[in-house]
Amino acid sequence: MAQSRFNAGELVGVLTTQPLGRVLDYRAPEDGCLVGDFVEVPLGPRRILGVVWGPGAGDYDYAKVRAIFRVLDVAPMRDEMRAFLSRAADYTLTPLDAMLRLATRAPGLGEAPGTRKVYRLGSTEPERMTDARRAVLEVLRDYGGLSFTLKELADMAGVGTSVVKGMVKLGAVSEEEAPRDTPYPRLDPGHGGKDLTPDQAAGAKVLAEAVASGTYGTTLLKGVTGSGKTEVYLEAVAACLRAGRQALVLLPEIALTGEFLDRVEARFGQRPAEWHSGVTQTERRRCWRMVGQGDADLVVGARSALFLPYRDLGLIVVDEEHDTSYKQEDGVLYNARDMAVLRAAGTGAQVVLASATPSLESWANVEAGKYRRLELTSRFGPAVMPRMAAIDMRTEDLPGGRWVSPTLRAAMRDRLDKGEQSLVFLNRRGYAPVTLCRACGHQIGCDDCDARMVEHRFLKRLMCHQCGATKPMPTVCPHCQVEGKLSAVGPGVERMGEEVQALFPDARVAVLSSDLYGSARAMKAHIAEIAAGGTDIIIGTQLVAKGHNFPKLTLVGVIDADLGLQGSDLRAAERTFQLMRQVAGRAGRAEAPGEALLQTYQPEHAVIRSIVAGDEEAFWAAEAAERRAAGVPPYGRMAGIVLSSTDVQEVFDLGTALARADAPLRRIGAQVFGPAPAPIARIRGRHRVRLLVKAEKSAPLQAALAEWAGQFKLRGDLRMAIDIDPQSFY
Ligand code: ADP
Ligand code: ZN
Repeated sequence: MAQSRFNAGELVGVLTTQPLGRVLDYRAPEDGCLVGDFVEVPLGPRRILGVVWGPGAGDYDYAKVRAIFRVLDVAPMRDEMRAFLSRAADYTLTPLDAMLRLATRAPGLGEAPGTRKVYRLGSTEPERMTDARRAVLEVLRDYGGLSFTLKELADMAGVGTSVVKGMVKLGAVSEEEAPRDTPYPRLDPGHGGKDLTPDQAAGAKVLAEAVASGTYGTTLLKGVTGSGKTEVYLEAVAACLRAGRQALVLLPEIALTGEFLDRVEARFGQRPAEWHSGVTQTERRRCWRMVGQGDADLVVGARSALFLPYRDLGLIVVDEEHDTSYKQEDGVLYNARDMAVLRAAGTGAQVVLASATPSLESWANVEAGKYRRLELTSRFGPAVMPRMAAIDMRTEDLPGGRWVSPTLRAAMRDRLDKGEQSLVFLNRRGYAPVTLCRACGHQIGCDDCDARMVEHRFLKRLMCHQCGATKPMPTVCPHCQVEGKLSAVGPGVERMGEEVQALFPDARVAVLSSDLYGSARAMKAHIAEIAAGGTDIIIGTQLVAKGHNFPKLTLVGVIDADLGLQGSDLRAAERTFQLMRQVAGRAGRAEAPGEALLQTYQPEHAVIRSIVAGDEEAFWAAEAAERRAAGVPPYGRMAGIVLSSTDVQEVFDLGTALARADAPLRRIGAQVFGPAPAPIARIRGRHRVRLLVKAEKSAPLQAALAEWAGQFKLRGDLRMAIDIDPQSFY
């Protein structure tokens, strides 16, 4: 067995959060240390965070080796976690130090517990209510279970700290000395279970037994929106709690709403720990520490919650498992769905992948017998799947610059008259995707990227959706200097809002697009208000396809169902299929039956036909056959390599050299394609070149890639990013 305890002065290897590319040697401190201990070590003039990783390498002059400064008062990193980080690093070809940074993203881990002042809702309402005071109370009510420091509370409410202090004096806010990092209340698995329908109950039983077995397994839980998947996986959570183990529910960030937490509370009597971008630093630190010592039963979080130091993780639910936001596209390029399976396999945990429209990867894993499949076949209660139909745009009479067909318009009129909601779906932010000069034909592009600027009329600016750069809307063409000839071409959601309002002057129209909100909280609040019926017609991007119920919604009109079918992305058809089905699934949640109308110029396209026919299995089978024939994921392996530099010559030279030096790849039967300019050939002034590596499913791809890329040293400002199983190809 490997040594796990080190006495004072013994050489130990410490993995730090610094990008050094290796484990460093230190001497064990006075009181010794254990493998997995979180430590503070000196590095140059600084003190940095690290983890004792094993015995030292001893390849360094012992006299120069410095001592570990101190062992931190937090639960040591478990063997399972160290193994997981190593495997995840190998899989994603990421340095271990970057994985450790991902696993320690909480502030002040080195600080002693102690106490601090926290602020909660007080017992009285202030006599004189101001907007500032109201904002403070709203934050406290919305996040009732959480504790805030003075600054956090003031920041979240958008007021000065003096407002909060004033409210303390009035008794409207209470101030207490509280110990830092208190345990989360225990959840009660017996608290509030619902009576399940027979197929829900059958599914819950299978999952509960799997969780109780204490072994690894993955289940795909499939069912249309509203079929009760959440009810079923909460029963798996209950089984996990009964077994005395911890559970994790991952959701796409946008679906992490108060509504979801209320549901968990209704089921288990207490709120779970939360981990996402809206959580304060104080709460992050509490969550990280409590998870590590087993004082948080359930974490509900975004993808990075997977890297928390669970003491005994027994279940990971990945809700909306097909969602592309599970793939982190910068820094460590990992897919949380795949990493969930990796982590669970190492710790005897069950994984539940829930979706109405699973990814082809998961579908194929079921076909291959690797995953179990559970299916909920009908919606709960009276709601049924919406009726779906294509609107053949070739036969609709529509003037230029207008996008709502007469057929769709009539259907919307009908809902308006009945007091029901309609959704007009267009997956394009902004006002118009192209700004064209009618005098010279010039299209306004971004200065730093190879992308067109998108007009955002709401912001009164042009914006690059690649780098976020904006500039004011010009009045003369920057190319030919002619004035007054610039015009918007094509629709974005803002422009749809105008068109719809003009068609229905009496309707309350709301545009839902992520860039129209100052914060995630403001956006979620607005969505909730719309769902409650505050709007007649919703115009939305894919934001609305995710995780929210709109009970009054009975009609969905898809403006351009063909949009996702173009493009070089190998998952274009799959994404279109999923998105269209999800959007359609928003209609008819309650008693009124729903209808989904898809505007298309290619109603005979196989994807459009299978969506309209509701024939999922046919779609998956056809898509799987095509991918298998092409040897691409999930039937083959792929890695995307993006090289970038401010120097265009340099980046192409490296690309060419890599393509030539492909011996390590040929040895495993892999092929290299490229170099080619990336579809977006310049971002933020950096020129980009792509290579694509394809290999058979069983080929040892990572090792070969590491050897291949390792032949070259990156000089100057050249950068290389290797993306295993790429999801995006821009
Ligand atoms: P999904 O996760 O598949 O979209 P949900 O679990 O959110 O479905 O269920 C949809 C709605 O139906 C929710 O409001 C849920 O509370 C309700 N529901 C589902 N199953 C039951 C049940 N057995 N008893 C009572 N309500 C249920
Ligand atoms: Zn740009």
